[in-house]
Amino acid sequence: MPLNTKNVYSMQLYNKLSAEERRELIRAAGKERLTISFYQYHQIGNPQLFRDHLFLHWHPMDVLGRIYVAHEGINAQLSVPGDRFEEFKSFVDSIDFLENVRLNIAREQDNESFLKLKVKVRNKIVADGLNDETFDVTNKGIHVDATAFNELIADPDTVLVDMRNHYESEIGHFKNAWTPDVDTFRDSLDYIEDKLKDHKEDKKLVMYCTGGIRCEKASAYYKHKGFKDVYQLEGGIIEYHRQVTEQGLENKFKGKNFVFDHRLAEKISDEVIANCHQCGTPFDLHTNCANEACHLLFIQCNSCKDKMENCCSDECKEIIQLPIEEQKKLRAGKYNSNKIFKKGRSEKLVFKK
Ligand SMILES: [Zn+2]
Ligand SMILES: [Zn+2]
Repeated sequence: MPLNTKNVYSMQLYNKLSAEERRELIRAAGKERLTISFYQYHQIGNPQLFRDHLFLHWHPMDVLGRIYVAHEGINAQLSVPGDRFEEFKSFVDSIDFLENVRLNIAREQDNESFLKLKVKVRNKIVADGLNDETFDVTNKGIHVDATAFNELIADPDTVLVDMRNHYESEIGHFKNAWTPDVDTFRDSLDYIEDKLKDHKEDKKLVMYCTGGIRCEKASAYYKHKGFKDVYQLEGGIIEYHRQVTEQGLENKFKGKNFVFDHRLAEKISDEVIANCHQCGTPFDLHTNCANEACHLLFIQCNSCKDKMENCCSDECKEIIQLPIEEQKKLRAGKYNSNKIFKKGRSEKLVFKK
């Protein structure tokens, strides 16, 4: 990877456009963009330098998105102008450890899935709460494709576990999957281990997540904890969906796949398995409460959205009527707990399971 640090400091390394300005540009360009995600675990010596390298190449290509870089690798969700995809792909391939990495291309496109390019250096590429020093992270579970996965989950000795959070599995999951009602990945690891503690040797543990990244560590962790047969869905729900569509396989996923961009979800099957949290009507699209200080992630049908002005509660609806300055004063000094601890949970949501 050729890097010229001298040039780096004379070039733009951060966004200068606001989301609104970017939206205008995308609309004016009128070109189709592709929403793409990929990840790779790999030892990166200098994440900051690597981060700058990515930004300097992607910014001129008009790439937008949220990318995490750490000593352990890269996790990227981004969007690329369709006509620059080849250029983007050959740049990615020019990086040793990313050559031919699987690029998950979203099936439902949204030109405004991302409005900024944010490449951030983090301690980890997934906030998994694990102490990686305590187990062998490279001793992973067996990766299975959609065909093998369908066979495995039909086996009565299989326990199928959803490694995502409650607000993700609520709108879509595999038939007969366990969907632990937990708030963090770390909690779900303990919960599942405890529930299966007497079956570490006689059950097949099969896990899945959105794009596969969470299972990479989880499968190694469970093997370390004594589980004998551990499997993970290669490429997650996104790749499964691609394979069942392309190969005409039976689709065992019901509902929508929650995604981490502006689209919030991708349809995998026509079934609607969730309900509006305010009136209970079948509905499966998330929204964020319009009160910036609340921002609660919840499911709201269109008629509740009109009635509640996109708010989660009467309190929030009152607050958004106030002048912006008043709202800011109310917010000052207050900890925004919804964003951090109560993602998708509030006692005001009558129909939240
Ligand atoms: Zn409703
Ligand atoms: Zn609210």
